[in-house]
Amino acid sequence: MAAEAVLDIRNLVVEFPTRRGVLTAIRGIDLTIGRGEILGVVGESGAGKSLTGAAVIGLLESGGRIAEGEIHVCGRRIDQLPLREMQKLRGRTIGAIFQDPLTSLNPLLTVGDQLIETMRVHMPLSRAGAMARAVRLLQEVGIPSPELRIAQYPHQFSGGMRQRVVIALALCAEPELVIADEPTTALDVSIQAQITALLKRVCRDRGTAMMLITHDMGVIAETADRVAVMYAGRIVEIGPVASIIRAPRHPYTKGLIGSIPSLTQRSERLVQIDGSMPRLNAMPEGCAFHPRCRFAMAQCRRERPPLMPAGTSEAACWHLNGEVSHVA
Ligand code: SF4
Repeated sequence: MAAEAVLDIRNLVVEFPTRRGVLTAIRGIDLTIGRGEILGVVGESGAGKSLTGAAVIGLLESGGRIAEGEIHVCGRRIDQLPLREMQKLRGRTIGAIFQDPLTSLNPLLTVGDQLIETMRVHMPLSRAGAMARAVRLLQEVGIPSPELRIAQYPHQFSGGMRQRVVIALALCAEPELVIADEPTTALDVSIQAQITALLKRVCRDRGTAMMLITHDMGVIAETADRVAVMYAGRIVEIGPVASIIRAPRHPYTKGLIGSIPSLTQRSERLVQIDGSMPRLNAMPEGCAFHPRCRFAMAQCRRERPPLMPAGTSEAACWHLNGEVSHVA
C-alpha cells in the first residue's frame, strides 16, 4: 500500500517551542491515502487534525516544526523541502481547500483571473488555453453560466458558490492530493450536502487523493472511504468508514458517533462525551482518553495503548474486546 500511496505519513511528530518549553501537538502518527481515496480525519478541536494537514502542505504556524517523521507525496519526501520547492508543490501537486472561501480568494481579482494565474504558474498554458480550461472547470464544479461568471469577483458569489470556486482553484493545476480542512463547516446544511457530493465526485473522476479534515462525523459518513479518528495528537482508531460507523471500537469514536442524531436513529439515545481534551502541557499518563473514559482501568492510567487490529480497523484501546488486551 505504502509504495503506491499518494500520501504516506510516517511517525509524524509536530512540536511548538514556547517560553515554558516545547509542546508536542502531534505525537507520532502514521497514515496513507491512495489514488482516488478520501481519508476523513476527525476529532474535536485540539485533536491535531488541522495541524496534520498544515504539516503536509508546509503551513505550520506559530513556530511549529516537524520534529520527527517523514511525509511522502507520490513517493517523494517533502517534509524537508526548501520553502521555494514547497511553494511550487502547493497548488501543483497538493491543492488546499479551507473552511472560509474568502481566505483562499483574492477579493480584488475576478475568479477567472485567479484560476488562470494559478494554472499558468504551474502549467505551460497560453492565456486563452487557461481561460478555456477555467470555464470547463467552473462547469465541472457546478457553477451555472461559467463563461459569464468567470468575469465576476468573489463577492458576487454566494457562500456555496464561492466554495465551489475554491474547489476549482484547488483542482486547477491537477494536483495529486487535496487537503480539505472543514470545507463545509461555514455553509448551510443543504449546501453542505452538495459540496460533499462534489468532493466525492471529483476524487472519483480525477483519481485525486483527499484528506478531509472535519469535526463532523456526519460529513465523514457521507463522504470518506476510510476515517482516522484523532485524539490528543494521536490516531486512536483508523479503518473503513462503513465498519467504523457500524461498529466503532474505541470509546472515543463511540462517543463521536453517538452524538450524531442521523447516525444513531436506529439505535440508542444520543450520548455526550463528558469532559474536554487534555491541554498539551497536561497530557495524562497512559491512555490520554482515560480521564473521560467510563471503561478506564488501572492499566489505562499506566500504559499507553498502541493501535491494535480490531476487525477491519485498528484501534488504540486496552478494552477492545470488553476485556484487557495484551500486546505481544
Ligand atoms: Fe478507555 Fe482504557 Fe481504552 Fe483508553 S485504553 S479508551 S481509558 S478503555
